Amino acid sequence: MSYREIDAVVIGAGQAGLSTAYHLRRDGVGFVLLDHADGPGGAWRYRWDSLVLGRTHRIHDLPGMPLPPADPDTPASRVVAGYFGAYERRFELPVRRPVDVRSVRRGNDRLLVDTSAGGWAARAVVNATGTWERPYWPAYPGRASFTGRQLHTADYRSADEFAGRHVVVVGGGASATQLLAEISLVTSTTWVTRRPPVFRDEPFGEDLGRAAVAEVDRRVRAGLPPGSVVSATGLVPDERVRAAMRRGALHRLPMFDRITPTGIAWDEPVEGRRELATDVILWCTGFRPVLSHLAPLRLREPGGGIRVENTRAVAEPRLFLVGYGPSASTIGANRAGRVAARGVRALLPAPATAAA
Ligand SMILES: Cc1cc2nc3c(=O)[nH]c(=O)nc-3n(C[C@H](O)[C@H](O)[C@H](O)COP(=O)(O)OP(=O)(O)OC[C@H]3O[C@@H](n4cnc5c(N)ncnc54)[C@H](O)[C@@H]3O)c2cc1C
Repeated sequence: MSYREIDAVVIGAGQAGLSTAYHLRRDGVGFVLLDHADGPGGAWRYRWDSLVLGRTHRIHDLPGMPLPPADPDTPASRVVAGYFGAYERRFELPVRRPVDVRSVRRGNDRLLVDTSAGGWAARAVVNATGTWERPYWPAYPGRASFTGRQLHTADYRSADEFAGRHVVVVGGGASATQLLAEISLVTSTTWVTRRPPVFRDEPFGEDLGRAAVAEVDRRVRAGLPPGSVVSATGLVPDERVRAAMRRGALHRLPMFDRITPTGIAWDEPVEGRRELATDVILWCTGFRPVLSHLAPLRLREPGGGIRVENTRAVAEPRLFLVGYGPSASTIGANRAGRVAARGVRALLPAPATAAA
């Protein structure tokens, strides 16, 4: 295969990739932004319709162009896809889609990026592939024997499809509580979590937010998987989640030990029973970073993560990870894009200066 030489390749056109692209563009770096989706919006384009703008935690503006005012009842998927598309046009970002990046590996003096649209040989690669496409399904005995429906947050479309069926919701994060709040309006539900959930009365302050991000940063510097921010910050219920609490829909049971063909089962009795029949198990168990295309670089540490410092992979200094670990939020992704672009620039040969 012949490779096109380029200064940088950015993989993924979500918040993190667009922020990086903005800074690279401004600095005059030659790059291409590859994304395998059909249109703009990153992971937001796949989120369910009831996740309206007014129910998001907050979508931070991309650098240089604020999110235009929008009706808080519009699905966030639509608002963000429109915003990202307008952003790509406004800054004339060199986005190519759909282009699937299949692998990144080391060449002689460049990183080789193999894709569905041919290869690029880059001095630097910025990985911004998010987590949405890697839903995490924990292993429990009997999971494959269940005859009802199992789905993950990533598959969720609307509560209506569960009417008349019992739904077990698994997981202690924001998605679990928000989906329980809406599904419990149309049908019966059971909520199970590994640890008792901790609800906060008020949004967590900047200090707690910073401490949670610092803890994730510590983990990725040590080569550990990033882990969950909610475990450090607790849950901040919105109005609908509070209403669900008042209805008793957020009564939590401990995690089951097994799955049977017709439901879930505990080894020790829970509220007087060991089994519960259910039609549906909804796994709100989070996501993991999408990194399989980086496997040829062999960056995994014995702890299971990739060591990253200030967005740069410690074991491959030409690779930057944005939207990963401490920068896996819209605000974090923004900042990481700026830092990574600075790192890319530092790798490029200095422009020739005119002779005096
Ligand atoms: C349900 C839910 C709600 C959330 N709500 C909020 C919120 O309110 N506020 C907030 O700050 N954060 C929120 N987050 C987190 C937030 O969505 C992310 O931190 C941020 O939007 C992710 O941006 P990203 O650019 O890292 O990834 P993504 O938006 O996932 O973009 C990754 C891009 O990479 C592309 N891609 C992946 N693999 C490849 C490949 N091999 N080749 C080519 N392209 C590829 C994908 O097509 C995609 O466009 C939420 C997360 C979830 C799951």
